[in-house]
Amino acid sequence: MAYLVLARKYRPQKFSEVVGQRHVVRTLQNALKSGKLSHALLFAGIKGTGKTTVARIVAKALNCESPEKGYEPCNKCLHCIEINKGIYVDVIEIDAASNRGIDQIRELIENLKFAPAKGKAKVYIIDEAHMLTKEASNALLKTLEEPPSHVYFILATTEPNKLLPTILSRCQRYDFRRLELPLLLKHLKWICEKEKYEIEEEALELIATEAQGSLRDALSLLDQAMAYGSRTKEDIIQAFGWHENILVEELAAGLLKKDIKKTFEIAERIYNQGTDIVFLTEKLTDFFRELLLMKAFQRDTGFTFSLSTLRALSLEYQKEEIFLILQTLARDLETIKRSDYPRLHFELSLMRICEFEKLTPIKNIISRLEELINAGINFEPVKEEKEERTWENFLKVLEKEGPPSLYALLTSIKKPLITEREIVVKITLPEESLHSVEIIKKRIEDFFQKPVKIEVEKQKVLKTHFIEEIKNRDEVKNVINILGAKISHIEVKDTFKEEQK
Ligand SMILES: [Zn+2]
Repeated sequence: MAYLVLARKYRPQKFSEVVGQRHVVRTLQNALKSGKLSHALLFAGIKGTGKTTVARIVAKALNCESPEKGYEPCNKCLHCIEINKGIYVDVIEIDAASNRGIDQIRELIENLKFAPAKGKAKVYIIDEAHMLTKEASNALLKTLEEPPSHVYFILATTEPNKLLPTILSRCQRYDFRRLELPLLLKHLKWICEKEKYEIEEEALELIATEAQGSLRDALSLLDQAMAYGSRTKEDIIQAFGWHENILVEELAAGLLKKDIKKTFEIAERIYNQGTDIVFLTEKLTDFFRELLLMKAFQRDTGFTFSLSTLRALSLEYQKEEIFLILQTLARDLETIKRSDYPRLHFELSLMRICEFEKLTPIKNIISRLEELINAGINFEPVKEEKEERTWENFLKVLEKEGPPSLYALLTSIKKPLITEREIVVKITLPEESLHSVEIIKKRIEDFFQKPVKIEVEKQKVLKTHFIEEIKNRDEVKNVINILGAKISHIEVKDTFKEEQK
């Protein structure tokens, strides 16, 4: 027996077998039961969500000799059987995308006046209805205005907005939704059981995710997986060439953990596979974009990466952390694209992300979030940090974290001027310790998260013959102790000489 693809083998034959689309099914059942089904129906939705399948069930329900509960086709009578085989004269399927479409519409209109040859109703199923030519649409429109009582039209389309508004307004519209991942997964499992095909749940989850809400795509992927004999997640990845997504997900998890070792190991694997760095960075950026969306909106659809990975990471990490990584990647992506050394810049980017402080500066985040909110993205309010950024608190932290020399030095200076925009620190240092200025500056900047200006006054020294006396002065001893410095020479500044005159 020839191999029958899963989508055909398991095509639902009655309403109760339709996967998902409960809202559509319920409304149709009620209309059929009460005999009030509209003569012009529009089924809109993405490919593979059951539009044509449901249209055929409706056609059967209208022609069945003894429909159960008044709407469910029996699938046993001659009408049902012939419709299932696609040989029933009164159910006519037209593919508007094919060249024959226009001829078929003409034929259709000519034959409208004739009563159904066999059953109770003539049902015209027009697939890809948005592809009808203008001429065909206009011809159809006339018949839609007043369809004979024995005629039903079912227009199926993935792009309802491309239909003439006059056609749309004459049809009762049913929207077919993408299938939710758990539902797809459940259905795939059910089919695998029926087929007695053993396969890991994780492998099925990959397939379901990749199908993006289309049952037909999911089944066609499962067909292929079965043909390859793939049974594990790894098999599937191998068979379909889905390495990149997996690598990106692993890399993202490493970055969120700030695990530089793991991150670089994965990066190494990526080079060895010969994956393009720009492509990979784009994918990685996409991943963090989706992660941020999931975190911010708790949405469940429209993602290209594994929902279970996204969900797990979105529960574990804060919006701010995700946002900072996304921002860094988006910025670095431009550099990587232009660079002659993309690998180097890619690694720098990974390193930058891993070096982020575990506790991100909250004020920066708030201002960045404000930018985002202004750009139209809505976030819940971020909790204010309790600890105030005062000089006293800074000294407390410094006392705790060290180094003690720096603590001693900064407790000895005058309290700096802290304004909204910057901090001005006045400090007196011996010349040979001037290199410490950058360290001091960075420490203060890290704490206050604003620019620090350090005004250094070089230590003035008195007359050369007082060298010993100078060395013994408390202030000098302090500096030597604090900075661990040695006196290499003592210099009398010109200005000072001037004063001495
Ligand atoms: Zn029947």
